[in-house]
Amino acid sequence: MLLAAGSGRRMRRAKHLIQIEGRSILSRAAGALLGSSAEEVVVVLAPGDREGVSALGALELRGVRVVFAESPDEGRAASVRAGVRATAPGAAGLLIALADQPFLEAADFDALIRAFGAGAGGIVHAAYAGERGTPVLFAARYREELLALRGREGGRVVILRHPGEVCAVALDPARGRDLDRPEDLLVSRSMQRTLSIIKPDAIAAGKLGGILQHIEDAGLRIVAMRMLHLTPERAQEFYAVHRERPFYQGLVAFMSSGPVVVSVLEGPDAIAHYRTVMGATNPEEAEAGTIRKLYATDVERNACHGSDGPETAQEEIAFFF
Ligand code: UDP
Ligand code: MG
Repeated sequence: MLLAAGSGRRMRRAKHLIQIEGRSILSRAAGALLGSSAEEVVVVLAPGDREGVSALGALELRGVRVVFAESPDEGRAASVRAGVRATAPGAAGLLIALADQPFLEAADFDALIRAFGAGAGGIVHAAYAGERGTPVLFAARYREELLALRGREGGRVVILRHPGEVCAVALDPARGRDLDRPEDLLVSRSMQRTLSIIKPDAIAAGKLGGILQHIEDAGLRIVAMRMLHLTPERAQEFYAVHRERPFYQGLVAFMSSGPVVVSVLEGPDAIAHYRTVMGATNPEEAEAGTIRKLYATDVERNACHGSDGPETAQEEIAFFF
């Protein structure tokens, strides 16, 4: 179960809705759990958190179940209880994860599940550089104790009661880092430039003006721009990093099928910011209100391109300008 209720008390806005590279941290954490061998994924939100529900988007269709904490104010215990109640009574264990650890991967959850399955202990928790942390997997026999938690108590209370039952699984501290304070999100917001391509599907559909407006409304300045028609050879060269991928031939044919508009966008953190504004590569997974959600057709014909890092931005800008 993934606890997202009550996140963000110390942040200016609901923490679980904050986006990193086009995906809310809630959807990242839930997606990683869904990819793990956990049998069911229950997300606990604060009562009435409709934005949380919509941030999950397509994940709900893929089996993520949403429940609401019993009380908005009580603290963590209310979320734990709601999550425990929502999981199948026959489940062998209960894995408690937090929505504010958006960098954990399915393999990290699987490491805990494997240790638990191998009989390492009745309580298996993550450890980061020797420090106890979350997620934590409790055997089904702790169900009642978890349901008895009150107020600000969390799983820690149960762990401390059963020291002989506890086993640690070391996880990478870089992936386990959490977003607790607003400062955790402040990467340096230096001025950057990134390359944008409005792809042939969007131009053919008459969406060029709408997308450029969207870019400017997002606070990105267009500092250079050109319309051109890529030859298959130039498209091949531009996407050379993907040449071994199964979609490469189709992508090259698509990108050379009609005119594109290439531009250089400038702004604070322009590279990551434009990726957020574009949304996920696959429009089905893109957040509402992103360019790809609004204008893309499918994972290939996805309306726009944006550089994915400072080095590629430099190379891609030099490719066209
Ligand atoms: N693409 C595709 N099928 C896929 C993944 C990607 O056709 O399964 C296309 C899509 O047009 C995408 C481009 O290849 O924008 C480059 O893929 P990448 O993973 O770099 O995504 P992006 O950086 O554009 O989000
Ligand atoms: Mg890319």
